[in-house]
Amino acid sequence: MQYAEQLLERFLTYVGFDTQSKPSVKHSPSSIGQLKLAEYLAQELRALGLSEVEINSHGILTALLPSNVKHAPTIGLISHLDTSPDCSGKNVRPEVIENYRGGDIALGSGEEDISPVDFPFLHQFIGKTLIVTDGTTLLGADNKAGIAEIMTALFVLRQSEKPRCNLRIAFTPDEEIGLGMQFFPLDKFPCDWAYTIDGGEVGELEYENFNAASATVTIHGCNIHPGTAKNKMVNALTLACDFQQSFPRDETPETTDGKQGFYHLNGFSGNVEKAELHYLIRDFEQQGFEKRKNFITNAVAEFNRSKHLKVPIELTITDSYHNMYDCVKKVPQAIKLADAAMRACGITPLHKPIRGGTDGAWLAEKGIACPNIFTGGYNFHSKKELITLEGMQNVVEVIVKIAELAVKK
Ligand SMILES: [Zn+2]
Repeated sequence: MQYAEQLLERFLTYVGFDTQSKPSVKHSPSSIGQLKLAEYLAQELRALGLSEVEINSHGILTALLPSNVKHAPTIGLISHLDTSPDCSGKNVRPEVIENYRGGDIALGSGEEDISPVDFPFLHQFIGKTLIVTDGTTLLGADNKAGIAEIMTALFVLRQSEKPRCNLRIAFTPDEEIGLGMQFFPLDKFPCDWAYTIDGGEVGELEYENFNAASATVTIHGCNIHPGTAKNKMVNALTLACDFQQSFPRDETPETTDGKQGFYHLNGFSGNVEKAELHYLIRDFEQQGFEKRKNFITNAVAEFNRSKHLKVPIELTITDSYHNMYDCVKKVPQAIKLADAAMRACGITPLHKPIRGGTDGAWLAEKGIACPNIFTGGYNFHSKKELITLEGMQNVVEVIVKIAELAVKK
């Protein structure tokens, strides 16, 4: 393929931008680097000949590659600009390993390595070109691989005379902290359906995700000097521990997988006076999701009844996102087209549920079906993040095929 070199060059350029999102910042974009990358990409999109290239006041970049035929559908492509707050994304120094021979990969000065013993998928990469970190930062393939793949596919499509559909492009900030999409300019993104290019291994196609909510339980105690506390002190921390006992122990993230839902205690803070428990509630099925929320509501009511508390414990539950499948199933061609494009490129589609959320889940709630396609990357949010150039080329080919097959009857 002619474009492998520029695909690699684009990717290496984009990971040079420090675009880590900052959970402590409450506005979007949460870091200036994301805006810098958006501006850089806007220039590149204009140079590629795209129209309607715009960055809104929240750093969301949108653009259009118009179709070259009449009455073509419009498909959206989305990747995110930010990298995870879990691992540094500053001064990323990627290392390119050509013709991987197998065995351990020493990162940078060699303090960290990636071993096929821990990551057996490495065996399938023998002979391929790997891109890894120097062991001090993440790589940023999540999601700059997606951006480089989309940009390169746009280049390929622009060079070609073959009929293609309209492609709407969006690069969004703050996906990792769930802040970017609320400022998404839907009016600049009219499309029949869309894809996020934000998945992992080659072939991945995801269109079902959790229904998600968070819950906060607040418990009020009464503090007295421990020496004279008998029959007077109410210890909020002890009550919080008791309350936690009401949850099933086998419905947690560490005991479930596949399509099983869970309750996740992910925060516990307080003192004798006041304690707070934070939970994440996750379930693929709408009914199961409601059941879980009811379970917590009932557990709080039962706790208040049985403990005869002067100040009852309080509960707030907030929905975070919903399973996109409710929307996607009404647009089956979104899945069929992605499947057909992958098969045409010699890739076997791997349909998987997402045990989390995506920007696509937000779009699905607004009525735009938006499955998630692979980027070819592995070990996201980690110093051991890696990607193969061949996997990235696969994505470019799949995007080009999607645009071409969309206009074939
Ligand atoms: Zn991502």
